[in-house]
Amino acid sequence: MDYELTEELRMLKDMAYKFASTEFPPLSKECDEHEKYTPEIRKKAAENGLVGAWIPEEYGGAGVGILGNSLITEELSKVDMGIGLNVVAACFGCESIFQYGSEEQKKTYLPKVCGGEWVSAGAFTEPNAGTDVAGYRTKAVKDGDDYVITGNKMFITNGTVCNFMVAQCITNPDQKKHNSFSLIIVPADAKGVTRNKIRGKMGIRSSDTAEIAFEDVRVPQGNLVGKEGRGFIQLMHFFDTTRVMVAAQGLGLSEACLETSIKYCKERTAFGAPLGSFQLSAKKLTEMAIMIEALRGLVYRSGWLIDTGKPDYHLAAMAKFYSGQTAVFCANNAVELHGGYGYIDEYSVQKWYRDAKILELYEGTKEAEILTIGRVLQSK
Ligand SMILES: Cc1cc2nc3c(=O)[nH]c(=O)nc-3n(C[C@H](O)[C@H](O)[C@H](O)COP(=O)(O)OP(=O)(O)OC[C@H]3O[C@@H](n4cnc5c(N)ncnc54)[C@H](O)[C@@H]3O)c2cc1C
Repeated sequence: MDYELTEELRMLKDMAYKFASTEFPPLSKECDEHEKYTPEIRKKAAENGLVGAWIPEEYGGAGVGILGNSLITEELSKVDMGIGLNVVAACFGCESIFQYGSEEQKKTYLPKVCGGEWVSAGAFTEPNAGTDVAGYRTKAVKDGDDYVITGNKMFITNGTVCNFMVAQCITNPDQKKHNSFSLIIVPADAKGVTRNKIRGKMGIRSSDTAEIAFEDVRVPQGNLVGKEGRGFIQLMHFFDTTRVMVAAQGLGLSEACLETSIKYCKERTAFGAPLGSFQLSAKKLTEMAIMIEALRGLVYRSGWLIDTGKPDYHLAAMAKFYSGQTAVFCANNAVELHGGYGYIDEYSVQKWYRDAKILELYEGTKEAEILTIGRVLQSK
């Protein structure tokens, strides 16, 4: 058993951190304040092979696998989780195309996203159904050679900046709920697509989030991803992979909280001694460090298992759940250790506190993860 990253993966990790620590800080505050998306950084990241890095080289990616992609995500999120998301989620619509799409779809969409030319989105959640994935209502009805799509999608990452989205639609309403869905590629500029940016997010404010309406949107039937009626299962598999990426976001953010807090505890004094010399402060740092190491184990192992053809989706759900717990805990402790300074924007910890919370909400709420983990435990 070898727990060490290979030399190649260590170099990738260092490169991703160098990229983020050079490119993100000049824009970080402005993007957070004004909810600005960062296309220029995404394009530069693509030039460095950081967009869709898990995608094999034949489709334009760097072929570094899910573990490699997690290391990239960790390092970008250590600097700014929102801007990092703009890089790693640019290919959010590509997972399903890669896993289930035709060769033609893979060749059309994946290289353009990896190359920084296009952005994708995964449009699943609806205004009235998020956790209840089988409750989505958007319909795609066959008409001639096309599907005609009607419905609404909510909270879609990259919604207003994407070139295409992969949308979950009901294509077989006569089938049982779970067999009624299909994933369909919808060009963002198709007639009848309306996209509105959602403003006022608590955190990851540089990430684009949108509400999308489909009003009689006509797309060719060739835009179906995989088989009709398999959309629900495909979406579950999509989450199994993307949850590792989301878990890596929490790992990076938590590490940033710990590193910054250690530095502050050494520098800041109270009662004539450094903060870190007080046992209550040391306890906070210690607990953060333990949780981070446990999370690292979950993230790296679940990524490595996917890459070696032994995916453990149960472990990926655990990684995602524990990532939210760790990030929220670490960000809270970081704010507390910084005292009043932790509450103002002179230090990044207040931003990390706001950013961390999304990890308990998107890609499955923490309650949804608990339900999944509990169900698998009892099915064995
Ligand atoms: C910034 C942001 C980005 C996002 N990006 C995307 C994206 O790119 N694509 C996309 O499709 N979606 C995206 N989402 C949507 C996100 O995945 C959903 O918000 C999330 O799945 C929860 O769904 P909901 O908001 O409808 O909450 P609900 O499902 O209404 O849940 C509300 C509360 O009830 C709880 N709950 C629900 N059912 C149960 C149950 N059976 N047992 C116990 N508790 C339960 C939930 O855990 C939660 O606490 C994004 C959301 C945000 C905020």
